[in-house]
Amino acid sequence: MLMSERIRAIKPSPTLAINAKAVSMRQAGVDVISFGVGEPDFDTPRHIRQAAVRAIEEGFTRYTAVGGIPELKEAIIEKLRCDQNLSYEREEVMVSCGGKHVLYNLAQATLNPNDEVIIPAPYWVSYPPIVILAGASPVIVETREAEDFKLSPDALEEAITARTRLLILNSPSNPTGSVYSQQELERLAEVVLRHDISVVSDEIYDKLIFDGKPFRSIAQVSEELKGKVFVVNGVSKTYAMTGWRIGYVAGAREVIAGMTKIQSQSTSNPNSIAQKAAIAALTGPQDSVGNMVRAFDERRKYLVGRLNAMPGIHCNMPAGAFYAFPDFSHCFKIDQDGRDMKGSGSLCDYLLTEARVALVPGIAFGADDFVRFSYATSLEAIREGVDRIEEALQRLVSSA
Ligand code: PMP
Ligand code: GLU
Repeated sequence: MLMSERIRAIKPSPTLAINAKAVSMRQAGVDVISFGVGEPDFDTPRHIRQAAVRAIEEGFTRYTAVGGIPELKEAIIEKLRCDQNLSYEREEVMVSCGGKHVLYNLAQATLNPNDEVIIPAPYWVSYPPIVILAGASPVIVETREAEDFKLSPDALEEAITARTRLLILNSPSNPTGSVYSQQELERLAEVVLRHDISVVSDEIYDKLIFDGKPFRSIAQVSEELKGKVFVVNGVSKTYAMTGWRIGYVAGAREVIAGMTKIQSQSTSNPNSIAQKAAIAALTGPQDSVGNMVRAFDERRKYLVGRLNAMPGIHCNMPAGAFYAFPDFSHCFKIDQDGRDMKGSGSLCDYLLTEARVALVPGIAFGADDFVRFSYATSLEAIREGVDRIEEALQRLVSSA
């Protein structure tokens, strides 16, 4: 079989695979409730869709500048200035085909074989494969639920070697919903500055925060640190634009130039029409974001309340994003009716077949005791989904 070593080293994205499975079960007539993929269940706001229609009508349908049109770069610069008080020049900003593509380009532009990248676990599923595809090695650092899954300065210090190049931080976090405070970021920043490493700050959920908690980027800690940080963001989550594929990065101009070179030889520019839509998203009315956060907040409280009411299940209250990450290890059994029920993978298989509920197993995020719920689905679906899980787990207990 004609297949590179590289491709043998990775698996398909488990979040997208579970989504595909839930979609195909639905197409086959099974009424699956999906807490699977992380994408807002809202429509892209109307003014954003209209901007795209206008772009088509006006014939904005050709190749654009590889790293994004100047008008969009300006909108990104303005967003980072207003929201994070961070200032960047156009040469320090680049647009790619989604946040995932930004991370891919960034890894390709900065990593060499034998380089190490520190990734706190639980981590978003695509970080390790993106690092591996760049020929480098992910170094996974465990965090604890009791510490709200946050990386401690000591654990970071311990993980750094002469080969460490990058630390990937994700706040608000997918899958835990944890949000780092200014003080926590400052303490991590001290360690980063003591060593010659850079930080990839994945801020794709920056606007999806609850209880009025402020969002802080590690790039805000100091001007010196900002020079070592790549701020990654995009419009997928904040504006319910997952299908449009627009993400962006701000950071050191040499690296941005390198990433642009890679993009020029791979995808070329991100979609021209989606770029116009992204300008409307970033510069237009923001009320849709507040409405979405209010809906997520209501669902979050309901879901986490129900999870914590289940015997043996524990779930921290997420402070941001739209995921809950409860510990389900209490339900793991070995050899349940001939099934190996040990671990989050088999539990999620059981719940998909027996309860028709799709969840992502914690093992996909490097935390096998846990299960991820995306609550970007209606309250009714959440209620019905949790009822089904409770009932299926009850059966498990009574047959044990
Ligand atoms: N980072 C995190 C933490 C995510 O959850 C996602 C969701 N897919 C992304 C990056 C990338 O999103 P997108 O490629 O849709 O911009
Ligand atoms: N980030 C989302 C998730 O974690 C979307 C799927 C993906 O890109 O992995 O479900």
